[in-house]
Order: sequence, then C-alpha cells, then structure tokens
Amino acid sequence: MAMTRDALFERVLAAFREIWRGGRDDYANRQQANELLHELAATAGGSNVVAEELTAISSAVRQLPDDDRLRRPQVEQLANRLKSLQPLLGSGSDRVETGKLNSALGERRAGRPAPPKAERAPTIVRPLPADAAATNLPSVGPKVAQQLEQLVHGTSGQHTVSLEEILRIAPRRYVDYSNLVSIGSLLNPEGDVTVRGKVIEIRTQPGRAKPFTIVRISDGTGILRLVFFNTWITKQLVESDEIYVSGAIQRGFDGGPEIASPEWERVGQRSLTTNRIAPVYPLTKGLHQKTLRGITRSALDATRTTLVDWLADAERFLSADLPLVSTTDAYEFLHYPDDFDQVADAKRRLQFENLFLLQLGLVHRKQQVQAGVAQALTVDRDALGTFIDSGLPFFLTNAQRRAIDDIVADVTRPIPMTRLLQGDVGSGKTAVAATAALLAKRAGFQTALMAPTELLAEQHLTSLDRLYDRLPEEERPRVALLTGSTRVKARREIDAALQAGDIDILVGTHALVQDTVHFANLALVILDEQHRFGVRQRATLVEKGRGFQPHVLSMTATPIPRTLNLVLSGDLDVSVMSERPAGRIPIETRIYRDAQRREAERLVREEIGKGHQVFVICPLVEESDNLDAKAAVEEARRLQEEVFPDLRVDVVHGKMGSKKKDAVMAAFRDHEFDILVSTSVIEVGIDIPNATVMMIEGAERFGLAQLHQFRGRVGRGGAKSYCLLLADQVTADGEERLRTMEATDDGFLLAEKDLEIRGPGDFMGTRQSGLPELGWLNEGLDTRLLAEARSSAERLIGAAPDIGIDEFPRLKPKLQQFWATASMIDASKS
Ligand code: ADP
Ligand code: MG
Repeated sequence: MAMTRDALFERVLAAFREIWRGGRDDYANRQQANELLHELAATAGGSNVVAEELTAISSAVRQLPDDDRLRRPQVEQLANRLKSLQPLLGSGSDRVETGKLNSALGERRAGRPAPPKAERAPTIVRPLPADAAATNLPSVGPKVAQQLEQLVHGTSGQHTVSLEEILRIAPRRYVDYSNLVSIGSLLNPEGDVTVRGKVIEIRTQPGRAKPFTIVRISDGTGILRLVFFNTWITKQLVESDEIYVSGAIQRGFDGGPEIASPEWERVGQRSLTTNRIAPVYPLTKGLHQKTLRGITRSALDATRTTLVDWLADAERFLSADLPLVSTTDAYEFLHYPDDFDQVADAKRRLQFENLFLLQLGLVHRKQQVQAGVAQALTVDRDALGTFIDSGLPFFLTNAQRRAIDDIVADVTRPIPMTRLLQGDVGSGKTAVAATAALLAKRAGFQTALMAPTELLAEQHLTSLDRLYDRLPEEERPRVALLTGSTRVKARREIDAALQAGDIDILVGTHALVQDTVHFANLALVILDEQHRFGVRQRATLVEKGRGFQPHVLSMTATPIPRTLNLVLSGDLDVSVMSERPAGRIPIETRIYRDAQRREAERLVREEIGKGHQVFVICPLVEESDNLDAKAAVEEARRLQEEVFPDLRVDVVHGKMGSKKKDAVMAAFRDHEFDILVSTSVIEVGIDIPNATVMMIEGAERFGLAQLHQFRGRVGRGGAKSYCLLLADQVTADGEERLRTMEATDDGFLLAEKDLEIRGPGDFMGTRQSGLPELGWLNEGLDTRLLAEARSSAERLIGAAPDIGIDEFPRLKPKLQQFWATASMIDASKS
C-alpha cells in the first residue's frame, strides 16, 4: 500500500502527540514515531541533510525522559524541529512505499517453514573490471541503478554508475556494532552492542496505532526482547533461527533487556551490519542503507582481483616511510573495516592518490613551462639599486625588496619565470610589479599588465605614473591603457605603437588577450589578482611572446597558509609579502553588538565630518545574488533616509553590470558621495585612500579571509582607520572569528587560523582555481601527506619527464583521466 509523504508526516506528528500525552502506551508510541521517522528519512527527497536531521530527531525521541513534566517540552521542541523540515521534504504527492506499516494484523507465525537456504546464501559474484557498469551486479536492477546515478552524479538517465564509482561512495560515518556481548552481561551496557542468539518466540501485538512484533531471543545466558514496529518481520524469522542483532539496549517493561528496531542478520550470512563496524552511507530517495551496503559489498567482491593498482607504477619514487595499503585493501577498509585504524589507512591511501595525481600534473606543467625559452633580461644592478633607493616615492619594505630579488634572479635566466607574488592587501604589490616592468623596459622589452576590472586597470595606470614620476623623461617607461571601453580608433593607434615598440607597458583588462593585440617583443606578463583569470586567458596572453616565452609574474592578495601553497600553487614559485609598509597607522577593529549600532553610526558621522569616506558591507543573504542586491539597496535607502539624511549615500551590488559598477566606484573614488553601501562583491584591490571606515553588517556570517579582505580596503591613506564589525546572535565559531579579527591584522596569521577553524578541505574547495575537486577526500587532510605527494611527484618527473606510457602503463591513463576533469573546470572558469 502506498501513502503520500504528507500523510506519513501527519502520522509522525500524531505519534508525537501520543508521546506527549504519555501514559502506559508512551513507550510503544515512541517506537512507532521512530519507525515512521526512519521511513520518512528513507524518502526524504534525496536530501541528506533532511535525512540526517530526521535521524537526529529519532534518536532524540529514543532518549526522551520518562517524567511527563520533563518530557513534554522536549516533545514539543522535537515536533517543531520536525515541522520545520516539512517544506524541505519535497512534494507531498510523491508516493512512498509504506506497505510494511499498513500490513494487516499479523498472527503467530512460529510454525512457518524457513525459506530455502539458497535464497540466503551469499551470492558469489563473478569478477568484473572496475569500469564495468553497476548493472552487472545481480543486486542492481534498473530502479536501483537510477537511484545510484542520482546518488553519485546528482542526476539520473545520463550514464550508469561504474563499479569504481560505487567503491568511491564514501561512508559519511560508521556505526560500531563490533561489541559482541552475551545477554547475561546486559545489565547496564552503554552504547551499541551485538548479541548472537536463537529466536524462541515471535508474537505480534496490537498497538494503539498499529500492530508491532515482539521477538525474543536466547543465548543460554539470558533472554533478550526485540521490538519491531512492523509485522513484516514475522515473514522473515521463524523460531530457532540463529541471528545477530545490533542496537542500543534499553530496559523493557518487564525490567529485562530490550532492543527496539534492531538491526539483524542471520548467523552464517555475511555480516554487513551486525557484529561489526558498519558503514553509514549518504542515501538518495528510495535507496535504503541495507541495499547500498549489499551493493558496495558485491562491488568490492567483483573487483577484488581486477582492481588496477596504478600507484604501483610509481612505487620506486614513493618515500619508503610512507606506509600505504594496496588499492584493494583501501576500498575494503573504507567500506568494511575491522577497526578504525583501517579506516584511517584507507583514507590515507585514497588521499595520497589524489594528491599525487594533482602534484604530478602541477609539477609536469611547471616543468613544461620551464622547458620553454625565455628572454634572459640584462639587469643593471646599480641602476636598479638607485631606482629602489631614491627613484620611488617611498622606501620599499624588506618584503618588497626580497620579492624584487626573487624576480631579478628569475628573469635574468633564459627560463620562463612562473612566480606568484602573494602579498596581503596593502603590502605594496604594485610597486614590485612596477619595478619588474622597469627592468624589462631597461633591457629593451615590453610588459603586459592585466587586471580583472577596468577600474583596477585604470588604477594601475595612475599608480605607475606616480611610481615612475621621478625618473628622467627618457628613462620613464611609456605606458598605455587598453580596456573594453577603449575606442576602435585608439585601439588601432595602440596596436600600431605596440608593434613599433613605442609602448613599454600595456596595462589593461582581458581586452589584452584579443588577437588584435600584437606586441613587438613581449618579455614579461604581470597578472594582478591572477585567480580571477581563466587558464585560457592566461595562456593566450603568454602566447603573445614572439619567439620567446614571456616571464610571468602572478599576484594575489589572498594569503595562503604555507602548508597549502603546494596544493594551490604547486606549479608556481612563491614569494610572500607578509609585511606592510612602515608608518601606517594600524586599523582599529571594533566589535559592536546590535544594541550598540548607534555608537558605530556616530563614529561614521564623525569620520565623514573630517572629510573622510565610509564603506558599508551588507550581510550575506544565503548565496543569492538577487536577495543580496535587494538587501544592499534597502540598506542604502535606510541609511540615506533614516540615519544620514544629510550625507550622500550610494550603492553597488552584484546584479549591476560591470560598467555601472565601475561608474559608481569611480564616483566614490572621486568623492562624489560619502558612504558606499555594497554587497560582498566589492572589488578586491580598489585603492581609495580617503576611505577610513569599513563597517561590516552581519560580520559574524563572513569567513576570516573575507573579513580581512574587506578590512584591507581602508587604512590606505595617512589617516587612522576603523573596521567596525556589527554582529548579533553570534555562534561560538563566529565569536572566535570576530575576536581573531580584533586581535590581529596579519593576513597570513588569519589564514593559518582559518585553516585551523575550517580545515584544509574547505580551504581548498573555495580557493582552488583550475584544480580538480578533491571532494570528501579533503576531510582530515594531513599536510605531511601533501609534502610527500609533492616530493614523490618531483622525483618521478625528474626521472621521467614525459611520464611515458611504456614506463607507466597504469598510471598514465589515470593521470590523463584525472586532469581531463581539471581542464573541464578550467574551461568553465575562463
Ligand atoms: P596591494 O599589495 O594591495 O596591491 P598597493 O600596491 O595598492 O597594495 O599599495 C597600497 C598602498 O601602499 C598604495 O597607496 C602604495 O602607494 C602604498 N605603498 C606601497 N609600498 C609602499 C611602501 N614601501 N611605503 C609606503 N607606502 C607604500
Ligand atoms: Mg593591488
């Protein structure tokens, strides 16, 4: 019989009402609620979050106190939690199989004959290659195949899931049923246990809402009562069956031990759940935990002898003190571990595989770039020293000097530079870039400087003018600007001058990569905010070198913890600038609770009174650009009309076109208004020295890295600046972030802290650009493993630069497959 999900939902609520009412049947009602909740979880529209919450509610039901007064408020709370899930459960008209809930009142079935043995003997699976379709498994029919597709690919009907993909379905967690105990010892056991016993009685009883079944088993030391909230079990078990049962022990009515809704399996059957550590998989609509366990088991069996251990190809390049289990063991341990050490072994092996493929690709890419020939620039060190010491409007920081040294060492070699300049906001990357471009000009070559927006490109043009201002006329590089807005006529003139060698530095946006742009002798490419460009765009610009490959200097304001640099920038050499120019007045960071908003507003007014300007960042609205934009517009209106009617307020947000956005930003730069309200889209790198206040609404919702980027927008002029963090309803995590922001202004320290709070997986997920998704394997990533992957990859490429198919017959295809996914990611970003 089928029941709509809504009806099922109603029944759970009804059960809750019964529990609330309590009385003698309270206990049975709890079991019923549990059973219904599990049903509901199994049909939860493919949403794991919902399923998990339902499971959590169900275990809370199990732990409800017996005292009415204590229990009732808790039941109400649970009912509310449940109600809040209803909209997430999906269409109520979906039919769900609840036949077992509604089956007719069962009678005693003790005498029913056991099903034929053949039916329950473990199926022997024939060996299959790992790329075989899952439908080759006897347990996977068309319906289950679809559910698997939904689970693995998030769609169905596209392409069938392979056995290997099944092996890679990672358990979300494990339940530990490995504690096998005798019934006699079940006095006050804690946690989950397994008991082995013989069925001595099966009895169905009428419940208030529906019948349930009591099964009693004995193991010679005592009797254990099992409660099943169905009658279907009477068709499965007969007296004298030997079974394992697992679950949490409770005290039953009669004071004896009892397990409600236990997991059970027959003795002699291969155990996938009871009497072991069992995997708990993510599920999708209609797919049951038990079914999936059976499927992973047969996938493991089918591939046991056929799985290719491609890492064996690279064995001699791996460090000897890196204990890695075999592929077959790794998957076996991942799904059916004997202990939790095996789980760790499995994870380490699978993580290493991914990191190694990643590093092989990156080291290979780097090696290929460096196999190219670049123009070795002749550097007049005396002239450089003079420029650094007296040619610039300020003294360079030590970090800036070190970065310039690194660059000089690179560009004087005939090998293309691949350097990433990682400098915190305001650390002065532009001056370093300007110095590099000057070196190229003095050696007689051209530079291209590409920025992600027109405004930033314009800003670079202005900065360069200022930085080169003290140079004698004839030594000053000739700089031109090319953006999307450059008129056709100007474009032609620029190209002609460029080809004639009359332009030394061409600054611009991605307009630089167009094929109408021809350099005479491009020797240096500088990419500001490099992660904003796709791999294709970068490559196209680099291809504009004639006969030589240009040196490439990439710049980013995103500090990356040292330990992750290898993963995120593995194909680049990195220079880090963690120091700010001296003499800056530190930015004062203050936290305001909601009630103190007035004080924050007073400070804003004061600063504007001094002729300064203010940024206001609106809270993040659940990842929706539309809502974010609306919130920003509303906030701007509120500030303008209700708080600062006498001041000039404007707004910028992500739903504006880039022209419009740039226009508002430019007007702000030119001090046409006082307060710029924006969503979090506000451009990185924008330099508005007159802005002294960064007010962040809902600060607790942003990550550390982002808060730090916001803060970096102020404190760029000579005046004291403030970062105001407005927050209410702060979680412990949020509180920690705010305190950290208050305590330090060092982007690298914050990045390390962020790594600590969020873990490397999350970090890599959000920061990586053009790198393959490592997914769940990132969790609990060990940074030592990372370093091992790197050095192993370097050893391999050092010995076999081409990674030839003859030498690496199993590794090579794997690598290609891995990076095919990566270039797809690249393409979508460019
Ligand atoms: P970012 O690294 O964020 O791109 P910028 O290059 O825009 O930083 O520099 C930020 C500001 O600091 C600019 O106004 C720049 O002129 C100034 N600046 C850069 N280096 C120094 C220095 N060594 N001493 C003083 N001011 C500096
Ligand atoms: Mg910059």
